[in-house]
Amino acid sequence: MAVVGAGLAGLVAARDLVASGHSVVVLEARDRVGGRVVNATTADGTIVELGGQWVGPTQDRVLALAEDVGADVFPTYDEGQNVVRYRGRQRRYRGAIPRLPAPVLLDIGRAQLRLDRMARTVPLDEPWRAAKAERWDGETVETWLRSHVRTRGARDMLRLAVRAVFAAEAADLSLLHFLFYSHSGGCLDRLLNVAGGAQESRLVGGSQVLALRLAERLGDVVQLNRPTRRIVQDGDGVRLEADAGSVRARRAVVAIPPTLAGRLDYEPVLPPWRDQLTQALPMGSVIKCMAVYDEAFWRADGLTGQSTADEGPVELTFDNSPPSGRPGVLLAFVEGAHARALSRSTPSERRDAIVGSLVRAFGPRAGAPSEVLELDWSAERWSGGCYGAHLAPGVLTEFGPALREPCGRVHWTGTETATVWAGYMDGAVRSGERVAVEVAHALAR
Ligand SMILES: Cc1cc2nc3c(=O)[nH]c(=O)nc-3n(C[C@H](O)[C@H](O)[C@H](O)COP(=O)(O)OP(=O)(O)OC[C@H]3O[C@@H](n4cnc5c(N)ncnc54)[C@H](O)[C@@H]3O)c2cc1C
Repeated sequence: MAVVGAGLAGLVAARDLVASGHSVVVLEARDRVGGRVVNATTADGTIVELGGQWVGPTQDRVLALAEDVGADVFPTYDEGQNVVRYRGRQRRYRGAIPRLPAPVLLDIGRAQLRLDRMARTVPLDEPWRAAKAERWDGETVETWLRSHVRTRGARDMLRLAVRAVFAAEAADLSLLHFLFYSHSGGCLDRLLNVAGGAQESRLVGGSQVLALRLAERLGDVVQLNRPTRRIVQDGDGVRLEADAGSVRARRAVVAIPPTLAGRLDYEPVLPPWRDQLTQALPMGSVIKCMAVYDEAFWRADGLTGQSTADEGPVELTFDNSPPSGRPGVLLAFVEGAHARALSRSTPSERRDAIVGSLVRAFGPRAGAPSEVLELDWSAERWSGGCYGAHLAPGVLTEFGPALREPCGRVHWTGTETATVWAGYMDGAVRSGERVAVEVAHALAR
C-alpha cells in the first residue's frame, strides 16, 4: 500500500493498514509530518501551535488518538471576561454571548436557531440528498444572510463567524456546504465556543505530537521530502512517481487536500466528475499569529484573552499560553479577505497591523511583544491554504459523491472527506480510519 501525505489522515490510515498486516509506505512532500498541524518554538523554548490545535467534546476519534499516543489535553484558558469591539466601542462580557445592541443579538439568535434547524435536515453521509439540497446549494451564505437577517450589525457578526470557522467569506460558500459543515460538528455553537465547543482543550506539547508520535511508531514506513507527482494505474496495481524514485503498490491512498490532489498527474486520466470536483474545492485563507509576552498581563486585568472585533485585520484572539501560564501568548487570527489582503504586505507591515489590532483590544502593553510568530497558510505549497476546502454553490449537489468514491485503485481520504467533524483534526482521523477499512476490503476481494 502506498499513502500520499503524512498528515493525520495519511498517518492514521497507515497505522491501521500496518496493524492489519499490510506493507505500507507513506510518501510525504515536506521535511516533517503533520501537514496542517505544526508546532513552532518561541525564543525561550515554549511550544506553540501554528496550525490546527484545539480539540473538544464529541471529537472522539482525535481524543482516542491522543490517548493512544499518550498525549494529554489541558483546558484552553477561559477565566474572566471577554472583549468585544463593535463600531469603534469596546465592551467586556462574560460567557459566550457578546455585549452587542439588543436588536443585533436578537437577530443573530434567530438566524442561528434557523440555521441549526436547517442543518439538522442535512444527511451527513450524503448532504446532496437533503430535501432542500438543490435550493440551498443554489445560493451562498451571503445571499441567505441578506435576505433573512434584518440588521446590518447581525449580518456583519455572522460574516465574522463564517470567517472564523471557514477562513473564507460568506460570499464564497454554498449555503448547503455551510449547513453540512455545522451539522457535521454538531451545531453552530459547538463550532464557535470554547466551553463545550471545538476550542475547549489543547494538547500538551502542541498538537503536532499526535503526528510525530504516530510517525515515530511507523518508523521508516514514513518517507519525508518525497512529493508524489504522478499516479499511474494498470491491471496489477499503481506506480507512484515521486521525488527520489517510484513506488509500486497494489493500491494508493491519496491523503492530501483535494485541491492539491487535483494538481497530480494521473494515468489513465481520472473520470471527469472527479477532476471537476477537485477544480471546484478552493482552500480558505488564514494567517495564524502568536504574540509572545513575558507574562499573560491580560489575566491580571481579569480578561480571558478572547476578543472579537468587527474591524480587521485581527478579528479574533485567544490566550495561547502554555499550561504553566508563562510566557503569555496571544493567538491572533487573520482570516478570509483580511488574510488575502495582508498576504501581500511585507513581514514588518504585517507585524505592525497584527500588533495594532492587539493594542486596540488589550491596551498598550500588547504593543511590545518579545516575539511574533506567524504562518500564512495560503503561501504553503503543500497545503494551498487552510483551514480546509470550501464549496461554492452547485459543487456538492453536482460533484459531492465524487469526494470519497475511489477511482480504480486510488482511494481518497483527508478531513475534507469526513462526515463527522469535517474540516477538523477529528475529521482527518475519522477519514484515515474509514479509508483503511475501505482499502482492506478492496485488497481482500
Ligand atoms: C491555522 C489552522 C488552524 C486550525 N485549527 C484547528 C483546530 O483548532 N482544531 C482542529 O481540529 N482543526 C484545526 N485546523 C484544521 C486541521 O488542522 C486539519 O483539518 C487537519 O490537520 C487536516 O489533516 P489531513 O491529514 O486531512 O490533511 P493535511 O494535514 O493537509 O495532510 C496532508 C499531507 O500531505 C502532504 N502533501 C501534500 N501534497 C503532497 C504530495 N504531492 N505528495 C506527498 N505529500 C503531499 C502535506 O505536506 C501534508 O503533510 C486548523 C488548520 C489550520 C491550518
